[in-house]
Amino acid sequence: MRKFVIMGVQGSGKGTQSELLCTDLDLVHISVGDIFRWNVQNHTKLGAQVRRTMTAGELVGDDMVESVVRERLDRHDWNFGFVIDGFPRNGRQAEFFMESYDIDAVIHLELPDDEVRRRVLSRRLCPNCGMDYNLIADRPEVEGRCDICGHELITRADDTPEALDARLRDYHQKTRPVLDIFGRKEVIHDIDARPSAEEVQQSIRDQLGLPPYKPAVALST
Ligand code: AMP
Repeated sequence: MRKFVIMGVQGSGKGTQSELLCTDLDLVHISVGDIFRWNVQNHTKLGAQVRRTMTAGELVGDDMVESVVRERLDRHDWNFGFVIDGFPRNGRQAEFFMESYDIDAVIHLELPDDEVRRRVLSRRLCPNCGMDYNLIADRPEVEGRCDICGHELITRADDTPEALDARLRDYHQKTRPVLDIFGRKEVIHDIDARPSAEEVQQSIRDQLGLPPYKPAVALST
């Protein structure tokens, strides 16, 4: 059983790196942001409660986040373990998590703020199939259209300069201190997130002593 937390500022590649770790290690990728986005897109009651907060780039209340995380982990569909991404994001969430679950390692992706801005503001998403694009490194073949399903691409509602500023501020003020809390008990693996996705994945595996990364499909970011 492997239980990892992946942390890092927005745009540092947490989602991509989690997916790459999960595929061949049979781990379940739990993204709290994806759970909220799914609820917003599907107009659930929870979605209605978090939509405005998310669009502004602010953090959803701790009680709601903790109940979503508890419910998700209680499903126990993660026989070989999980990678949790986007949680915890402040001291209280970290304390809650450490009281309830044992973690094997914390993966911390490091990326300078100017690179974050460059990456995040060029990010595009297919709202139909969920495929991510990046206008710098991973452009769609036809401008504005998804390569997989042909749907029109959108910008995430919280990928605006204003919302990004709010998220960066929250990250530095509230999320960085989580590393200090984890650091008291867990090993934190600092990883340089600037190289390509494959290289970053290999560094994670080297540091965690995991089997080497074998690309199944070519990645362009
Ligand atoms: P992400 O995809 O991880 O950037 O999350 C998107 C949005 O979901 C964030 O900007 C927050 O509004 C909300 N969110 C995700 N995870 C958390 C969390 N652990 N605590 C509070 N809000 C969160």
